[in-house]
Formats: sequence, structure tokens, C-alpha cells
Amino acid sequence: MLTMAGRMAQLGTESAFEVLARAKALEAEGRSIINLGIGQPDFATPAHIVDAGRKALADGHHGYTPANGILSLREAVAADLHRRHGVAVSPDQVLVVPGGKVTMFFALLMFGEPGAEVLYPNPGFPIYESVIRFSGATPVPMPLYEEAGFSFNAEEVLAKITPRTRLLILNSPANPTGGAAPRSELDRLARGLERHPHVAILSDEIYSEMVYDGAEHVSLLTYPALADRVILLDGWSKTYAMTGWRLGYGIWPKALFAAAERLAINCHSCVNAATQYAGIAALTGPKEPSRKMVAAFAERRRYIVKALNALPGFRCATPGGAFYAFPNIAGTGFDSRTLQGRLLDEVGVATISGTSFGAFGDGYLRFSYAASLPALEEAVGRIRDWLERQDNARARRG
Ligand code: PLP
Repeated sequence: MLTMAGRMAQLGTESAFEVLARAKALEAEGRSIINLGIGQPDFATPAHIVDAGRKALADGHHGYTPANGILSLREAVAADLHRRHGVAVSPDQVLVVPGGKVTMFFALLMFGEPGAEVLYPNPGFPIYESVIRFSGATPVPMPLYEEAGFSFNAEEVLAKITPRTRLLILNSPANPTGGAAPRSELDRLARGLERHPHVAILSDEIYSEMVYDGAEHVSLLTYPALADRVILLDGWSKTYAMTGWRLGYGIWPKALFAAAERLAINCHSCVNAATQYAGIAALTGPKEPSRKMVAAFAERRRYIVKALNALPGFRCATPGGAFYAFPNIAGTGFDSRTLQGRLLDEVGVATISGTSFGAFGDGYLRFSYAASLPALEEAVGRIRDWLERQDNARARRG
């Protein structure tokens, strides 16, 4: 009889991958499935980035690189952050890792242990709560409010801080809601955090380049008073349509960097070399492909928010960023998980139940609009027909 460590029972998962598997299985049976479940751009990685990766392999970049990443890549990250956020970050603070998730995992391993508390957004990216529990720490949810564009409330968050709070996780623009926290709320939070110097902040800004009219992305790096305890999570997956390359980075405060790098050395040694060269091309090359992709998301967002709001029982707030819509579906009379299952099985549209993102996601469904406009139109049409059939059946039953 094998005995796994007790913490293994605490590890959760990301339902998007389960839904993807179910959608693929249905497709293999010959069903037509529109996948609005998975959170990845439906665009190919821009050609100049692919070419740089290919060239790196041809040029013989086949060995280990420094654990923290190739210097020219870390310099490109620092220059990019200066361009986008106007902040001075040293290349020595950049830890290049295999995907955005790794910075999250390392921050939680660094601060989480039994007795510690970690504040995290709920509904939020499911891996936060999963890894908090895995670390032994206690997850303390900070609710996001639909009526506030799925922002948190700074006073409420600050009131949840105790002497045991080690880490606060922020994510804006957010998965699964698409919410972008307004500057005023972040300012209030940042000011309040000055009274709690024992709390580190993990700011997940993986969707920072996907913000739409009326919304704004504010980086936590722009608050000098917090500079010695903000860990920034960002990467290439979403901005450059590079989810499968596995490339991300953390900006670590100087005092934490050596510990984070040690985790990297113990875990993966370094990111594969060719991918790092592709990452340099992404940051230093033409930005037009990314701009076009974001413009396409903006157009789809306009469509889907309007179309979802027109569905019976649906109410959809306008997301400020990312590529997700998170409609409230309580008015349909179905709970989120039932609706997710029936939409996939009966109409062939994959979405994700809000409960996959935490208890406060109950009553919502996540739609990824990283799919073509015709696919979105077809999906909404199928759902409308199905909802009407349910209504008619209910009316007949009287
Ligand atoms: N953070 C958030 C909020 C995400 O939605 C995702 C991916 O869906 C990640 C991090 C992880 O990104 P990566 O694929 O680069 O690990």
C-alpha cells in the first residue's frame, strides 16, 4: 500500500482542462462542439516569434541557460515593463519561468504553511485556492462584486488582514470575470497596506495587455511604497498567444529573489533555451500582431456582452479586460454546474461553471470569447434555442 503525503489530498485542479477533455471526447464521437471553455487565444503565435525559436534551435542553443533566464531576455523584460508601466526594474529581479503559473506556485510555497493565511480573489483563478491549501495555509477569500465590475472592496480586504496574513493575491484584469480593478480601489488598498508591512502581495497581471475601452490596467509595480513586497506575475502566454511554449516571469523584490531562484533550481533548472529566444523576439519585435489580436477580442467582447444580455435569464456585466465574460445565470432557474453540463451535452457549447472558480462563482458561467465571431454567434444561437425549449417544456408542465 503506497502512502502519499497528506497535502496531496488538498490539491485542487482547473476544470477548464476537464471540460476540454470532455469536449474533445464528444467531438471524437462526431458531435459539433464550440469550445468557449478554455482560456487561450485562438490565434497562432506571430511568425517572427516562431522563427526566432526555430533559429535558436538551428543555431545550437540546446543547453542549460542560467537558472534565472538569459540576460538579454531579462533585459528585454525590464525594458518592456519600463515602456508599459514607467517603472525601473533591474534585470536582476526578473526570474524567467516555464509559464505564468510557476511564479504563483513559488510565491505560495514561499509564504504558505500551516497557521499562515493567504487572501485570494473569489471567484478567481482556481489554482490560487488549490495551492494555498496544498501549502497548508488557510485560504481567506476576498469576494469580487458583480455590481462593482467584479472589483474587490479595499476596506473589506484590509479588514480581513490579521497578524497571520502572509500574502495577498490580486489579479487584474481577472480570470474568470474579466473584471479590471479601478485605480481608485487599488489606491485605497495600497494606502491601507502601508499599515500592514508583514503582508506580501502577489499581483497576477497576465492579462495586463488586454484591457478595453473604459477600463485601465494599473500595475502594482507603480506603488513605490510597496516595492519591497510586490511580486509581479506576467508572461507571454496570453499577450503573444504562446500558451504552449511555457514562458512566464516573476519580478521579485530583491530580498526574495535568491529564495525564488533556489526554488527554480530545485524544480526546473531553467526554461528551455529556444523558447527564451522566442520570448526576446516577442518583446523586441513588431507589436502589430498582438494589437490586432486585442482589437479582435474587443470586437467579440462587444458582441458577446450584448448577445448574452439578450438571453432569457442571463445578465452580463461588461468585462474591462482579459477575454472572458461572466454572466449571472441565476434567472435561468439552473445552477451553474447543471447548466455547464447540459449546455455541453445537449447543445455542444463548452463553458465553465462559476463554481469552478470558488464558492462566490455560484450563479455564474464563464464564457471565453477567444473564439471567432461566427463561432460565438452560433454558440449564442444554440443556447437561445435550447433555453426557449426549456421554457416551453416548463410551460407545458404548467
Ligand atoms: N494567471 C491567470 C489569472 C490565468 O488565467 C492563467 C492562465 O489561464 C495563468 C495565470 C497561467 O498562465 P500560464 O499558462 O502562462 O501558466
